[in-house]
Amino acid sequence: MEMTKTKVHNFSAGPGILPQEVVKQASEAILDFNNSGLSLIEVSHRDKDFMGVMDEARNLVKEILGLPDGYSVLFLQGGASLQFSMVPFNLLRPEGTAAYINTGVWAKKAQAEAKLLGNINVIASSEDKNHTYIPKNIVCPKEVDYLHITTNNTIYGTQYKNMPNCECMLVADMSSDMFSKPIDATKFGLIYAGAQKNMGPAGTTMVIVKNDLLGKTGRKIPSMLDYKIHIENDSMFNTPPVFAVYVSMLTLRWIKKLGLKEIERRNEEKAALLYNEIDRNSMFKGACEKEDRSLMNVTFVMNKPELEDAFSKYLKQANISGLKGHRSVGGFRASIYNAMPIESVEVLVDVMRDFEKKNG
Ligand SMILES: *Cc1c(COP(=O)(O)O)cnc(C)c1O
Repeated sequence: MEMTKTKVHNFSAGPGILPQEVVKQASEAILDFNNSGLSLIEVSHRDKDFMGVMDEARNLVKEILGLPDGYSVLFLQGGASLQFSMVPFNLLRPEGTAAYINTGVWAKKAQAEAKLLGNINVIASSEDKNHTYIPKNIVCPKEVDYLHITTNNTIYGTQYKNMPNCECMLVADMSSDMFSKPIDATKFGLIYAGAQKNMGPAGTTMVIVKNDLLGKTGRKIPSMLDYKIHIENDSMFNTPPVFAVYVSMLTLRWIKKLGLKEIERRNEEKAALLYNEIDRNSMFKGACEKEDRSLMNVTFVMNKPELEDAFSKYLKQANISGLKGHRSVGGFRASIYNAMPIESVEVLVDVMRDFEKKNG
């Protein structure tokens, strides 16, 4: 099957860009899955072919991160947003306290759900400067049940360069920077990531959890929210989102082939190209503290905001899509996830230069 080569440069924040080869393979499996004559989306999830997909996806996560024994990988539904509730249900004792760092909208939503189930302690916040930086020198009380962080703040374009030093269990929402660089996953008790930013389509959320942390709160947990039940059922307690898991598996194969080191090198190269232009170009300025700038979501504003519409027209003419900033921040946001080719970033940089020449 021939794919028409798309000329649109996709800077969408999420659902975001996927590798072209993955999109092509996924479209083929919709028509004929593993030469079965059936579509991927019309076979039983208990079929051995789909069970193989689920196993491969979970194993690829372990291989790519080099996870030791004792960790489980799950593909669940409900988005990263349901993890905001599942984390405290499973890890926060009714009389315990969980620490949260408020680095923006997603962090705050996570915090709000935990608050429904127990005590929370917001130990640091960047709210005073509309989340344009990552709080530093964090001291986390030893006795908390866990510390929750959002490693990459998709809306504002900030990212932790160093994880907070803490003796307690670290829980991380990595929705928008999962698999963008090598990490030591064993530093975390639990990691979750909605697939649709950097590893697949919307519809599934990957969870990595250290098994021995579970079953300790004494809470009664609804089955669908209980990590142990999902682990015991190999992530197939109920019908899994077969298409989303399949496409995530294909993306994980692509990630494994490249390796996280090479992915990081590419991401750094793309981000440097774009940030250098933002800093050089007299029409634009970066929206965040330089040291906390995200490699995934590059946010910037115009020195003359009245030129935003004119710049947007330039973007449209160059087939650049998805650059509008989040409604709570304004300006522009270029999401340059793993699958974004450097050529698309070059096109954007050229448009910015051109705009300066004509309007500067
Ligand atoms: C998009 C996003 C979410 C929300 O994900 P859903 O899958 O829509 O629930 C949570 N956290 C971060 C960091 C995100 O970027």
